[in-house]
Amino acid sequence: MVIRKGERTGLPVIVAVHSTLLGPALGGVRLTRYDSPVDAVIDALRLSRGMTFKAAASDNGTGGGKAVVPLLPGGPQNLEGQRRKSLLLDIADVVHSLDGRYIVAPDVGTGPADMVAMRMRTPFVGGHSVTGDGLPATTYGTAGGVERAVLATARHLWHTSDLDGRSVAVIGFGAVGRRLTESLLARGAKVTTTDIDGSLREAAEELGATWIPLERAYEAEVDILAPCALGGSLTPALVPRLRCAAIVGSANNQLSTDSVAELLQKQQVVWTPDFIANAGGILYASGLELQRLPHDQAEARLDRIEDATSRTLERSAREGVTTLAAAYDIARDRLAAAEVG
Ligand code: NAD
Repeated sequence: MVIRKGERTGLPVIVAVHSTLLGPALGGVRLTRYDSPVDAVIDALRLSRGMTFKAAASDNGTGGGKAVVPLLPGGPQNLEGQRRKSLLLDIADVVHSLDGRYIVAPDVGTGPADMVAMRMRTPFVGGHSVTGDGLPATTYGTAGGVERAVLATARHLWHTSDLDGRSVAVIGFGAVGRRLTESLLARGAKVTTTDIDGSLREAAEELGATWIPLERAYEAEVDILAPCALGGSLTPALVPRLRCAAIVGSANNQLSTDSVAELLQKQQVVWTPDFIANAGGILYASGLELQRLPHDQAEARLDRIEDATSRTLERSAREGVTTLAAAYDIARDRLAAAEVG
């Protein structure tokens, strides 16, 4: 872990490199409020570990890292204009000093434009590309990855990945939710969707989705529930009320605690772990930016999510363990093989 005071802004830049066993530690830089520097350090460590497992499970060829710049009480609460530019250079300096062991990318509070600014200073930057229609490459890849996870989950449950007539509830009609809705509709699925922002209803209905009230969404009687809003939504209290066969979505840290994975297993709801389903952003962007692949070949890397999903669900069924445990084991196997090799 490296903690340095930015030369220009005086703000603390925290970088946690959890593992470089499978490749350079890749992970976003989080620019958000924290109550104390200690909270920020703990978060950086926790998030960097999560990136190691996400990258290992999806075979991305990268390790896990994370950067955090905490906005602390008494300090600036948001950074724009020249101050932001200075901070980005401060972060880039720290990234560069790690000589490629850590590759920075967007996370909460940062986006592709910030990555473009950091590239002026260091080449160790990912997540700076956008698609032809202006979508961040990470968003494009994440939505495509969740789609593949849905297909693999359907195949596991119903022995076909044909979604024609299957019902899916997409919760969170943001960048990923919208794109996922489009692709599921194109596959013939019946999509219901909702968002805390009711003004998105018209756009959802224009696509052909049915809007449902948010308070009923998690309990909707559907084949697949796709949480694409915030984390922590799958709680012990919710599990008995679920009426879906499976849960596959992009939201990070969907389980309020790891033990919810056991409750879901008992309830026979198949949960495809979030870090398997939402690895498409790093797979696609790493393909484009680190491996310099053309779009088609970078997109083909998303098929690894179908593979990782199938392997996770099969292992969980075969060994009688939760899907969370199975996914961790797949990642650990890959890390152990690299350690031996
Ligand atoms: P986004 O901000 O574009 O969309 C999130 C949407 O969720 C917004 O429309 C927001 O109004 C809505 N929302 C917020 N709170 C809600 C609530 N309580 N109930 C219902 N809706 C709510 O973000 P995104 O890029 O679409 O990402 C969606 C999720 O996927 C996030 O959890 C994100 O961390 C995760 N994720 C995204 C990426 C990526 O590359 N974009 C990668 C991995 C994981």
